[in-house]
Amino acid sequence: MNAFQQLGLEDHLLQAINDLGFETPSEVQQKAIPALLSEENDLVALAQTGTGKTAAFGFPMLQKIDINSRTTQGLILSPTRELCLQITNELKLYGKYCNGLNVTAIYGGASITEQAKNVKRGTQIIVATPGRMIDMITRRLVDISKIDYAVLDEADEMLNMGFFEDIKAILSHTPQEKSTWLFSATMPKEVSIIAKKFMASPTEITVGS
Ligand code: AMP
Repeated sequence: MNAFQQLGLEDHLLQAINDLGFETPSEVQQKAIPALLSEENDLVALAQTGTGKTAAFGFPMLQKIDINSRTTQGLILSPTRELCLQITNELKLYGKYCNGLNVTAIYGGASITEQAKNVKRGTQIIVATPGRMIDMITRRLVDISKIDYAVLDEADEMLNMGFFEDIKAILSHTPQEKSTWLFSATMPKEVSIIAKKFMASPTEITVGS
């Protein structure tokens, strides 16, 4: 049994991992993947970029969502367009054997019509920057009222960029009973306020120093 299999990941995801050439799970993956797979818990993870955090939340989300449904089940918020596109691309690679998977990137500076069309096709996972997401919600172009998983990626960066109110507004359109997974490189007061406000007794993991 390889190390990724031991974390509890299913064959179609292990196949993608094999294609990507990942040999051993990184620290954040070793800690987060079993925790996220085994329980419906909130999570706070202190982890820098480059530690493999996208896979740490991406694989559990891909394993847990219902690919046969066209309902949006996962929402990932990220601070920048670059990160949004990077996460979307990674998720598509991780989910290459998830037949019927549709991951949609929603970010400013690109056609909102195209993004709306993609959502309308039925997208299980939306990866978004907060500003454009608010815009799409206001215009009723997305429905996040049935999501099971919300990820706040680089939460400290999003707050630095002044997205607190946007994040609050976006989360107010999601169900209370979802799981929220927060990733941040640092834990300033603002991030712990978010964690306290939106999460219930989260599992906490720290990677590196
Ligand atoms: P991230 O921290 O999610 O931005 O990931 C940084 C880079 O590491 C990405 O290009 C991933 O494809 C890659 N990566 C993630 N997990 C692993 C792993 N277990 N082994 C090797 N590379 C990985």
